[in-house]
Amino acid sequence: MSLRAAVVGAGPSGFYATDQLLQAGFAVDLYDALPTPYGLVRAGVAPDHQSTKRVTRLFDRIARSPGFSFYLNCEVGSDLTHDELLEHHHAVLYAVGAPNDRRLDVDGIGLPGTSTATEVVAWINGHPEFADLPVDLSGRRVVIVGNGNVALDVARILTTDPDALARTDIADHALAALRDSQVQEVVIAARRGPAASAFTLPELIGLTSTRDVVLDTADHDLVIRDLANETDPLTRNKLDILAKLGEASAPSSRPRIRLAYGLTPKRILGESKTTGIEFVLTGGDESREMSAGLVLTSIGYRGKPIRGLPFDDAAAVVPNDGGRVIDPGGSQPVRGSYVAGWIKRGPTGFIGTNKSCAAQTVHNLVADYNDGLLADPLHKAAALHRFVRGRRPGVIDAAGWKAIDDAEVARGGGLRPRDKFTSVADMLDVAATAPAPPVRNVVVRLLRRDRQRTTSPPEPRPSSVRPGAAEAARAEAARREALR
Ligand code: NAP
Repeated sequence: MSLRAAVVGAGPSGFYATDQLLQAGFAVDLYDALPTPYGLVRAGVAPDHQSTKRVTRLFDRIARSPGFSFYLNCEVGSDLTHDELLEHHHAVLYAVGAPNDRRLDVDGIGLPGTSTATEVVAWINGHPEFADLPVDLSGRRVVIVGNGNVALDVARILTTDPDALARTDIADHALAALRDSQVQEVVIAARRGPAASAFTLPELIGLTSTRDVVLDTADHDLVIRDLANETDPLTRNKLDILAKLGEASAPSSRPRIRLAYGLTPKRILGESKTTGIEFVLTGGDESREMSAGLVLTSIGYRGKPIRGLPFDDAAAVVPNDGGRVIDPGGSQPVRGSYVAGWIKRGPTGFIGTNKSCAAQTVHNLVADYNDGLLADPLHKAAALHRFVRGRRPGVIDAAGWKAIDDAEVARGGGLRPRDKFTSVADMLDVAATAPAPPVRNVVVRLLRRDRQRTTSPPEPRPSSVRPGAAEAARAEAARREALR
């Protein structure tokens, strides 16, 4: 019986976990609800950060490994259940991220002209669920509430020359809207002071070296005040950069970004459509109104519950111990169930942070296998393919994804990395043109997977499966049970 793991979510943490599972000797089936892989690298990383998106080359290499299979356009939780996946795999590892936005609870949120920065990023990146998001850029000012890296990403894109963006993989609809944009100022409003800015130093450097970024005189004073008291070197570096920013009162010939501090959002202004936002000066009761045609909240992400697994609603993560899902009452591990990435630790860190996060989870998963704690699948590997196709006839495999990928790159015409499809229907049409592998090849591949463990067991490594360890552990457990 080959070792089999299901990984749910084809973003960075899903791919890092897949890589580590493959190295440990598992065959891996990688599931994603979308017809396209890469998660936030495709739909969240801003299009002007193409060098960050190049991590997909690593993911492509992982996807070409022996023992790997894609099950794209297949949603675990609706097309397939957690228990069904466990019947076909030794373990199921969820790397589904934190797909929801934290919502700001003030009057007027939801009015036309309000949205979240992450929705706008998804719209910019051509995510099919956000292709029709109404993004009104007809006003002169956009206000973004919250000053994390997502806010900086959106502000940067809204103030970038569209001709430069035209050489990226930005969605066509977003590029067209940006060409018509009337936006002259994007205000990034934080409720706390400059020293508490949530953006990171590299992102601030990237922003201020390529855009006009300014401060009001009052905010300059706050920066100087914070510099006088701050001892943390990293924060001081950020404050040093802020202290050198230009004055907001100076005239500007191109769209600019203003960083504003000490503003707690109170309500969205406007009757049938957003006309601005009212803040309270943090720590007091004085109000400040700011006109804006678009108000975006950018106050972090939230994980959402996974059907069939426990959920910690306060932290918005699946309760876990080093990636082992635990039942919240008794702290007992939920057999065969694991998490990695933002659904495990919350929405923090960079893409690379997910590598060590996934490594910890896979290390524990392999240890559980070696300790005989994972049940063998009830069905042979060959049965999974038939089962998933029965449930989800439109499931997309590696050949289908390659057809979509090739078509997007071809649409880019050599001038752009790719021109993305933004509708699932278009993606499915293209995937359907992929040559189907001869049935014989599929059967041979799956039979090989079934034999893989008995014919060529992997070399034991610190975090890899020890041949026979699970059987020995189970036999020992049965012996102890018999002696009781
Ligand atoms: P974030 O870094 O957690 O920032 C959230 C912001 O929202 C903070 O300024 C926070 O202010 C503010 N906030 C929270 N609740 C609020 C409320 N009720 N009213 C007003 N403001 C509120 O979130 P993010 O920008 O979504 O980023 C998420 C993660 O992705 C971060 O780890 C980030 O570094 C990462 N990321 C990285 C990149 C990159 O490397 N290029 C790009 C995008 C995202 P307080 O501090 O006062 O709570």
